[in-house]
Amino acid sequence: MVWLTWILVWPVSLYGLYTWLDPVVSGNAVEILSFIILASIVALFPLQVGDNPVFFTHGIAFAVFLYYGLFIEIIVSQIAIFALMAKMRVGKSQSHRIPLNLLMFLLISVVSALIYYGLGGTHGEAAVNSITDAVPIVSYALSQLVLNQFTIKVVAKVLYRKKVSWLDKGLVWEMMTACLVLPIGFVLYMVFSEFGVSGIFFVGIPFIFISGMLMLYHNSNQINTYLKETSKIGHELTGELGVKEVLDIFVDRLSKLLPVDYIFVYDVCSPKKMDLIRFFDRSGEIDFPDIQLNKGESISGNTWKDGNSVFFKKKAEWSHLENRFTPDHAESVLSVPIERKGEIVAVISIYSNKRRAFLQFQFMILNILGSYLGVAIDNARHYEKTKAESERCALTGLYNYRYFEDYLEGVFTTWQNEHPTEPISLVLLDIDHFKKVNDTYGHGSGNEILSKLAKRLENVVGSEGTLARYGGEEFVLLLPYYDATASKRVAEQIRSSIFEEPFTSYEHIFDDRSPVSISITASIGVATYPDHCEEALDLIRQADRAMYVGAKQKGRNKVAGYEEMVQTVQ
Ligand code: GH3
Ligand code: MG
Ligand code: MG
Repeated sequence: MVWLTWILVWPVSLYGLYTWLDPVVSGNAVEILSFIILASIVALFPLQVGDNPVFFTHGIAFAVFLYYGLFIEIIVSQIAIFALMAKMRVGKSQSHRIPLNLLMFLLISVVSALIYYGLGGTHGEAAVNSITDAVPIVSYALSQLVLNQFTIKVVAKVLYRKKVSWLDKGLVWEMMTACLVLPIGFVLYMVFSEFGVSGIFFVGIPFIFISGMLMLYHNSNQINTYLKETSKIGHELTGELGVKEVLDIFVDRLSKLLPVDYIFVYDVCSPKKMDLIRFFDRSGEIDFPDIQLNKGESISGNTWKDGNSVFFKKKAEWSHLENRFTPDHAESVLSVPIERKGEIVAVISIYSNKRRAFLQFQFMILNILGSYLGVAIDNARHYEKTKAESERCALTGLYNYRYFEDYLEGVFTTWQNEHPTEPISLVLLDIDHFKKVNDTYGHGSGNEILSKLAKRLENVVGSEGTLARYGGEEFVLLLPYYDATASKRVAEQIRSSIFEEPFTSYEHIFDDRSPVSISITASIGVATYPDHCEEALDLIRQADRAMYVGAKQKGRNKVAGYEEMVQTVQ
């Protein structure tokens, strides 16, 4: 559509302007050509601010405009834009930017010239005579600045559907450079009027150097900003996070920091394979692909195999690799291995649909982020392991007492807010005469029984409730949505599963190494919310009382509900 508009509008406009303005070219060819060369060289030093290049040709174009008028200014500007586009190496997918920029700048040239002439401005050697000529000149400069920002932002909003902020970094840089470039342009005009072509070199050469220096300054400034952002991401990744959160934060921040269209994070899951564990697609068109790569396969598999980061600036550079999983539109790639303790544990590959989308320093940034990620994943794994260990009992693998009390309080608070009338029950189990088991068969056997009992309980309970080892030989079970009757039925199942089948023990203290069969029983108490209590810890206390009074005291190997105990007491 942009190309079509350009073909329809551009030649006709130029021809129309040419016949209307009737510029005098003959006799001025060398001068005009010199201006074109100067403007094109200056265009080779753009500053990339956000998505848009800021470049300094308008200083030259300004001088040309004052001397030769609108038409020649248009020619110089349009050719300089070609130079800029060549320098920025807009690829095939971005080629519409060429006609788009030509049209935008044509419009800006024409509108600001109309304002200039409308305010009484003239061009030629005597364009500037008195102080009053400052009015059209300043208006011209201002209208160029405003129109440039305006068209860039309208295009971003309408064509690219981006969120636009009118007062952004682009505007600041544009204003700053205008303050420098336009006065120099004015001086160029004056010197050219006085000395002719040689004037172009007097002012032009320092101008080229200033452009180059500004570009270098801007680039180092930009690297600084990137480094700050990178270190911020590094700090974020070292918080108390799990592996999943680390990866989520990493991909999110990376997608905001670098101009990526796709991010692939692979986890080395075996000596020969790696799995895609995170995927980002800016366009949102591709679903999470189910990818497993062999070592050496595709770009990322190759990064793993070689252990080196790679930086491909265009498609042709990776054509020698088999690429089953590279997105079709991808034009540039950075791929970085993540190492921990001398081994590659993951690979990150980022793609852009633009050619030469990534700069050398962004490659370096990705490498730094990659090392942060390696450390962060290591920390996160360690953190998850320590956390899991602190929540569980080492002997049985069940949740421990500390975890269970916090968990119970959490569940209770939610429960009371969300469905206060629904029942939730707690079952508390204590092994009968367990001391005797230890005394008879030894502590090893005792441990073995505790561990096997935990498995048996897990089998009976399944996913119906949450089990924990509450004390030495005491276990608890929280059963959401179970009322007193239903939970006593479960308790009864547990009791009989323990009573009916003896435990086999190998770790006993007897000289004969053959296994022994040990029969045990358990006493169980049950309490239910909202029937028996209002608070989480009361539920434990009441189940405990039911267990002692209703089961232990009544001969053990029994299930007792809290309600029966209340009746007994009455
Ligand atoms: P009852 O509950 O029926 O009154 O009798 P009991 O013998 O079970 O009573 P008590 O609660 O006084 O004793 C619990 C015993 O459980 C004491 C201790 O030897 C044993 N025990 C607690 N924790 C462990 C453990 O981790 N391993 C082993 N082997 N024994 C444990
Ligand atoms: Mg006990
Ligand atoms: Mg006991």
